[in-house]
Amino acid sequence: MEQAPPARWSPSAALRLSAGLHLGAAAAVLASPALWPWCLGAVALNHAVLTTAGMVPRSALLGPNLSRLPPGHAARGEVALTFDDGPDPLLTPLALDLLAAQDARASFFLIGAKARRHPELVRAILARGHTVENHTDTHPLHFAAFGVAAQRRQILRAQAAIEAAGGQAPRYFRPPVGLRSPLLDPVLAGTGLRHASWTRRGADGLLSDPARILRRLRRVAAGDVVLLHDGTWRANATGQPPLLTVLPALLARLRAQGLRCVPLPGPAGGP
Ligand SMILES: [Zn+2]
Repeated sequence: MEQAPPARWSPSAALRLSAGLHLGAAAAVLASPALWPWCLGAVALNHAVLTTAGMVPRSALLGPNLSRLPPGHAARGEVALTFDDGPDPLLTPLALDLLAAQDARASFFLIGAKARRHPELVRAILARGHTVENHTDTHPLHFAAFGVAAQRRQILRAQAAIEAAGGQAPRYFRPPVGLRSPLLDPVLAGTGLRHASWTRRGADGLLSDPARILRRLRRVAAGDVVLLHDGTWRANATGQPPLLTVLPALLARLRAQGLRCVPLPGPAGGP
């Protein structure tokens, strides 16, 4: 597998402050043991802040995070559609046809194990002008509780599987259910991947009613990164994945608003 050269990790200000706080608390307890309840409280509060930051999609406290397109893309009226949890033999080909019908392009955050099972779908996604990105190898829901080595293994295995299937290495990583651990940033720095979250999500992996999903997406505007799913769904009353109703309606609305759907930008901000 071809890997991007490891980048030097530069911790975010919040992580540097947290490390300082831990050292300071340890030094204070050593110097005056009676202070231990205060020091323990400060450390616990710090952990609570970092955990909360990891649950907020737009937060950059734990490291760089693409949650909106850069200003140039927004000025051009561009919106980035992203699809998680595929490739799926039923839904991915249908999503590709719906996107092609509206001349829309998108980014697909793939699960490595599924890419190994369906390499032809990875190639189909790329052949239609979309990009493929990294969404772990097996999508463990408790990924954010993993240590550094286990996180790295999940990411590198998926990277190898997706690249072997389609010949293009992912540039972005999105953790399962969007939960970000404070340990993720140094792992990503070693892989050359950038963290991507979203501006708005349809919750289409949880909701079955297309009208409710579309309501959640009614404010999508230029520069937004939109989260949808082509690998997880709850069938609605007709037994269909709601995406099959949501996607054409959303694409038609964005088009009527003069907005254009594009994949996530390249490292230099290009396509
Ligand atoms: Zn997912």
